[in-house]
Amino acid sequence: MSAEFFARKRFIVVITAPSGAGKTTVIKRLLETNTGLSYSISATTRERRAEEEDGRDYYFLSEGEFRKKIDAGEFAEWAEVHGSFYGTLRSQVEQKLTGGSHLLMDVDVQGARQLKNSYRDGVYIFLIPPSMQELKRRLVKRHTEDKHHLEVRLKNAVKEIASFPDFGYLVVNDHLEQTVEEVLQVIRAEELKTNRLSDPAGIAKLYLDKP
Ligand code: ADP
Ligand code: 5GP
Repeated sequence: MSAEFFARKRFIVVITAPSGAGKTTVIKRLLETNTGLSYSISATTRERRAEEEDGRDYYFLSEGEFRKKIDAGEFAEWAEVHGSFYGTLRSQVEQKLTGGSHLLMDVDVQGARQLKNSYRDGVYIFLIPPSMQELKRRLVKRHTEDKHHLEVRLKNAVKEIASFPDFGYLVVNDHLEQTVEEVLQVIRAEELKTNRLSDPAGIAKLYLDKP
């Protein structure tokens, strides 16, 4: 078998969800499984959390720096989320998709909608928490928001959840291992689509020319 004929084009895998549903946790686990996935590092104006590192978790920018990049057209998408700016740099998408891995993205619902318009062959997965009570429990447990910001995130979550039908896949993040497995299954099924083949004409030739 000539493996090169069965090579697949790389694609973006957008994980979207309300804050606290588990995007960061699921993506971290997916990257650890090391299955040919890379991660798109977003830019943000939000304060860095203690455990975060600039250039690994986010590019932490001032509002002025962020606005300059908007004006220069450097973002594939951007949005104001819970009072801070977040955006995906075009350079991340361009560089990382040529690197031979699928590109995982963690973006809010507004950003995912924008990406859907410009990256139509991307895979869009909405991660939903098992219940609102569990979402609240996870946000409280994470200890990253004060009471006011927690309420803002929960209020936004209700609106965001209503938009799940805009995305191709819905995965319930109840048991982490199962969530990761289901996302990997989606990625594998997407890889097998005929329109992801790099060289369909080459395959046809391989069989048709040598009866
Ligand atoms: P997001 O990136 O969507 O805002 P996080 O990944 O930060 O969410 O997860 C929010 C909290 O929920 C974290 O404390 C995380 O450990 C926890 N969490 C994530 N997934 C699960 C899960 N499947 N079961 C239980 N807790 C989870
Ligand atoms: P957090 O502050 O908890 O890291 O993220 C808050 C929200 O911003 C999450 O819903 C997360 O998905 C979203 N987010 C992170 N990066 C981006 C991005 O590049 N673009 C958009 N639109 N949202 C993002």
